Amino acid sequence: MKHLLSIHDLDREAIERICDRAASFAEVSDREIKKVPALRGRTVLNLFYEASTRTRSSFELAAKRLSADVVNFAASGSSVEKGESLKDTVLTLSAHKPDAIVVRTPWAGAAELVTHWTSASIVNAGDGKHEHPTQALLDVYTLLRRVGSLDGLDIWIVGDVLHSRVARSNILAFAKMGARVTVCGPPTLIPHGIEESLPCRVTYTLDGIREADVIYALRMQNERMHDSYVPSLREYAARYQINGRNLGPRQIVMHPGPVNRGVELSGEVVDSPQAVITMQVEAGVVVRMAVLYEVLAGSRAPEVAPVPTAPTTTPGAA
Ligand code: ASP
Repeated sequence: MKHLLSIHDLDREAIERICDRAASFAEVSDREIKKVPALRGRTVLNLFYEASTRTRSSFELAAKRLSADVVNFAASGSSVEKGESLKDTVLTLSAHKPDAIVVRTPWAGAAELVTHWTSASIVNAGDGKHEHPTQALLDVYTLLRRVGSLDGLDIWIVGDVLHSRVARSNILAFAKMGARVTVCGPPTLIPHGIEESLPCRVTYTLDGIREADVIYALRMQNERMHDSYVPSLREYAARYQINGRNLGPRQIVMHPGPVNRGVELSGEVVDSPQAVITMQVEAGVVVRMAVLYEVLAGSRAPEVAPVPTAPTTTPGAA
């Protein structure tokens, strides 16, 4: 696999292979020296045009744990502020000869566009409201760890589905792994006809939420809203918040972060042992290690360069 742009690029077998490899990398994260030489000599460029805490730090850690060289590029503070386009930025940074570029932008389809401007492998770390495939993979990985299998699991994705790239990638990935997916939210925040284009069913109220094995809550993506979609956050929380009153004792709660406490999830739910939000963050590193390995070394193992012999030094030379 050269690029990871969308969950459409992966079948169930590929998702399982990535999760299995992530599990083998998990052992590295528990060592005192958290590094393996799998990508030694490779360069990973992190190209981030949008705010990120978890995704950026975990891609950086993932690349470093595989011994790759890492260049971090954030649009703010760069020549982007002087008007340089995405294309020119990619062409400029390609001079550093990256083997992989991890791309996050606010523009749907941008990660795919970048594949035309460079020979590097491209990993989509979020393109507008389109997709966020590594989030979906780490969520599948987290659930596999927690419950063993997604076959027959009832997963409800609750909140602002309309503006969420996580929802799109996760519906696809959960369904490929055998889960039944329901999306739930106010009609204004559920894309019209989503049940025809993606493998999910739709409901507009939390009635029946107790049927869910897993509740996946989403944040209001205010940065992508150009209108008001709910009367107020208070009103939204009154109808759609997951809290101690509507959460069943055996349900698992997930969230991609950042959480707006008191809106989509009550504080007590965020802090309860039923929430696996920290496990999801931990999974982010090992799953991104597996993805970088997959696109850079998986099917196209690099030729092993001969170990350089010690340089012969002239006595007295400095
Ligand atoms: N961190 C996720 C994303 O980048 C979810 C969110 O921002 O709400 O899409």
